[in-house]
Amino acid sequence: MRLSIAGGCGDFGRSCFFVSGNQHAYIVDCGTSTDGKDRVPDLTADEIRGAEYLFLTHSHRDHTGAVEYAERMGFSGPVFMSAQTYRQLGYKPKNAVIMDSTAPEVELLPDFVLQWGRTGHCCGAVWYAITCEGKTAFFSGDYREGDPFYRNDPVRDLTADIAVIDAAYPTDETGDVMRERFLDRAEAILKEGRALILPVPRFGRGLSIAASLYLRTGGAYPMAMDTRLYREWRTFARRKYFVKPGIWEVPVEAFSLWDGQSADAPGAYFLTDAQLTHAGSRQLADHSPDAAILLSGSLHGYGRARDFVEAGRAEQALWPNHMTYGEMQALAGANHFGTVVPYHDPGRQPEQRVFEF
Ligand SMILES: [Zn+2]
Ligand SMILES: [Zn+2]
Repeated sequence: MRLSIAGGCGDFGRSCFFVSGNQHAYIVDCGTSTDGKDRVPDLTADEIRGAEYLFLTHSHRDHTGAVEYAERMGFSGPVFMSAQTYRQLGYKPKNAVIMDSTAPEVELLPDFVLQWGRTGHCCGAVWYAITCEGKTAFFSGDYREGDPFYRNDPVRDLTADIAVIDAAYPTDETGDVMRERFLDRAEAILKEGRALILPVPRFGRGLSIAASLYLRTGGAYPMAMDTRLYREWRTFARRKYFVKPGIWEVPVEAFSLWDGQSADAPGAYFLTDAQLTHAGSRQLADHSPDAAILLSGSLHGYGRARDFVEAGRAEQALWPNHMTYGEMQALAGANHFGTVVPYHDPGRQPEQRVFEF
């Protein structure tokens, strides 16, 4: 078998891996770049048409933004994903297959077995171990063990000939240290009696941050969510499949609905615009000059988040919903992997673009 990196390694987003053998071919993720250029993966027309399956790890556009492009280019096979990923996708693939959570291992063809589990990165996010023509390839997807909100099926003692693993943060720190640093900073701002604006994505770390901040401060500060995140919270506050049961300790009423217009009173305000892309978010920052803005994700090429940081109007403390390089190595050490291919770090170029395994 051979695996070609079509994007996602030493790249801004654009995760996409093409795997082919003598009989079969498949693609894992099909994302666009996050540098503001929306670049599509480096897949040839033959590769796109020849792939039998597309497996999506989760809905984020750096993993799914080019699915429609692949269909336009002639991909017509089934697109596998979790039900939550399907719900979150803006563009619904023509031939979507929703995976059955009661069957995390399924034989698609006589020599083609799909195994999957939850990654803890967001609702619906999964990892895959795909065995085809006698060779196993593991794809961690965006992976986070120990998230306070999302459940993870830890990958242990798995044997794979090649493993493509999330190593988004180029550090040997652990996520626990990063999470504490973020919460320390957020709590310090709240203690000053200030308003704290927290830009987050619609699907992902927003609920983890909200629940953690609530549990840490014992509900001492008002916390409000804009409509889109509030709806997610109301949907998942009492569900268990992708969400940890411990979240039931957070009262459903812990968070109130916020219209997103101003953030003047002390407390936390969750805004689903992680990169400050929308004009309304920038107006909010202008209308609430005393509010602190704490960014929790990487700064991308689209939106204005980077400008806000450079102008001193926002600060950044990464919330860990990926793995650090050190954690990637630890995960590889807890399994039996042949070749290990780290992905998701723009600064780490792969040794090669094509791997035989
Ligand atoms: Zn993601
Ligand atoms: Zn990603």
